[in-house]
Amino acid sequence: MSFSSLGLSPALLKAVTEQKYKTPYPIQKEAIPAILSGKDILGIAQTGSGKTAGFVLPVLEQIQKNTRPLKNRHIKALVMVPTRELAVQINTAFNMFGKYLPVKTRSLAVYGGVSINPQMIDLQGVNILVATPGRLLDLISAKATSLSEVEILVLDEADKMLNLGFKEEMTRVLNLLPARRQTLLFSATLSEDLSTFQKKLLRQPVVIKV
Ligand code: AMP
Repeated sequence: MSFSSLGLSPALLKAVTEQKYKTPYPIQKEAIPAILSGKDILGIAQTGSGKTAGFVLPVLEQIQKNTRPLKNRHIKALVMVPTRELAVQINTAFNMFGKYLPVKTRSLAVYGGVSINPQMIDLQGVNILVATPGRLLDLISAKATSLSEVEILVLDEADKMLNLGFKEEMTRVLNLLPARRQTLLFSATLSEDLSTFQKKLLRQPVVIKV
């Protein structure tokens, strides 16, 4: 099986080929078509499984679909992550895979521990935001961004976010999102805490375990 049978557009396939990815990994085979069909996802997958491309590619495809004129400072896809390192890595993947798309997307990674002002400036025209929960709330309080137009929410390494004590911040962010959206949740483990959390968040999710 090749990437071309998963439903991705030529511009994305070109970027995949450039990365020398030949065969989709199991999580990609399952997640990509399910996300493209608009389904919520519960993905139980470790780092190294290929989960990043498994959501980055279809998220790029999904936000191309309804090309309402993008209002400034309105995010269409929000990815919440536990660490700066992961935020940077996912943002790099969005840039790499999105570079040939006919409708240009702009992504940005924001995280704490660094000055907030440059991030506020960089948020201009961004439609994909990869963020740690605390800094995201700070940027919202500062009116530097808005989540009212988010169509897709991704929670990556959700177990780690809960373990690091981000639950309250995550809940505050979730309350700011439109109820009508697609939600993708990835976690290495499925704890009781996460199980309760996902039941509130996901609507009839496709469960993928690799
Ligand atoms: P991830 O689990 O998303 O961090 O990906 C682990 C590593 O696998 C990264 O270095 C990716 O570039 C690489 N990778 C992901 N999908 C594929 C694929 N289908 N073929 C080859 N390498 C891949």
